[in-house]
Amino acid sequence: MGLLDKKVAIITGAGGGLGEAYAKLFASEGCSVVVNDLGGPRDGSGKDATMAQKVADAINKAGVGKAIANGSDISTMEGGETLFNDAIKAFGKVDILVNNAGILRDGTFAKMTETQWDSVIKVHLKGTFCATLPVFKYMKDHGGGVIVNTSSGSGLIGNFGQTNYGAAKAGIAGFTRVLSIEGRKYNIRVWTLAPGALTRMTEDLQERRGASYAPWPPEMIAPGVLYMVSDLSGDQTNKIMTVSSNRGIREMKIFMAEGWTPKGPYTAQDVAANASKVFFRDDAKAQ
Ligand code: NAD
Repeated sequence: MGLLDKKVAIITGAGGGLGEAYAKLFASEGCSVVVNDLGGPRDGSGKDATMAQKVADAINKAGVGKAIANGSDISTMEGGETLFNDAIKAFGKVDILVNNAGILRDGTFAKMTETQWDSVIKVHLKGTFCATLPVFKYMKDHGGGVIVNTSSGSGLIGNFGQTNYGAAKAGIAGFTRVLSIEGRKYNIRVWTLAPGALTRMTEDLQERRGASYAPWPPEMIAPGVLYMVSDLSGDQTNKIMTVSSNRGIREMKIFMAEGWTPKGPYTAQDVAANASKVFFRDDAKAQ
């Protein structure tokens, strides 16, 4: 018995990197997989339908779960619809969606162009919306399912030179929090994933930022994601899970300080006088 026997998963951006590792592991656990990828280079400037096809062919050759390729651009409404329709046509249902597709167009904020900003927000944030909408509507009427949305330490903690990417990734975490509340009564579980792995997206960043740790390959992230989408995670929802070599596998949460509530009108000086309650006392390191 595989962990995902008889399940159907859609994985966006699964023609390489993390998505490919998820697709192959899910299929090896008995899942039928729709391998979506627009193809093209890391900055999202082109198309290459062979990327998704190669992964689907490898899965079908391995002979456990089945796969089809889909070349939709998930940053459009039409792309999201086509992806969902292909899943229904090929496999008759959808149990799992992993929103994973992404691009990178880094730059320090003072040099950020409108094109850099718009393209990154469109693929990550709007893409998550476009791929999720038809699937969520379907899951709502068909007994539920699991959705994993890919955020990043850049959005949840911060990273130099990635205001566009960080904004999109923090937006995805906010989207997930709200969607998981709406999905609860329909048995739809929604997770935020913050992965870290050596892929084409990160291969030169490691060197550029002088990281002191060796990143995991995508195959080390995939079992964590399999846990999230399988019955092993029970009824867990609305959680952020990080999976990376530097943070290991752990939940991440937003905490509030003790706080101070004025009994009536107050001054800025009163806030300063109560700073030890308003703010966390120790400057706890997030990374
Ligand atoms: P990757 O570049 O190997 O994979 C991203 C895939 O998305 C590519 O195959 C690309 O062709 C596809 N894609 C891009 N735009 C698309 C579109 N409009 N429609 C369909 N497919 C599209 O990079 P990866 O590292 O495997 O990244 C996967 C996800 O994980 C991304 O969302 C990324 O932001 C996130 N992430 C990665 C890391 C890391 O350390 N690698 C860290 C944090 C978050």
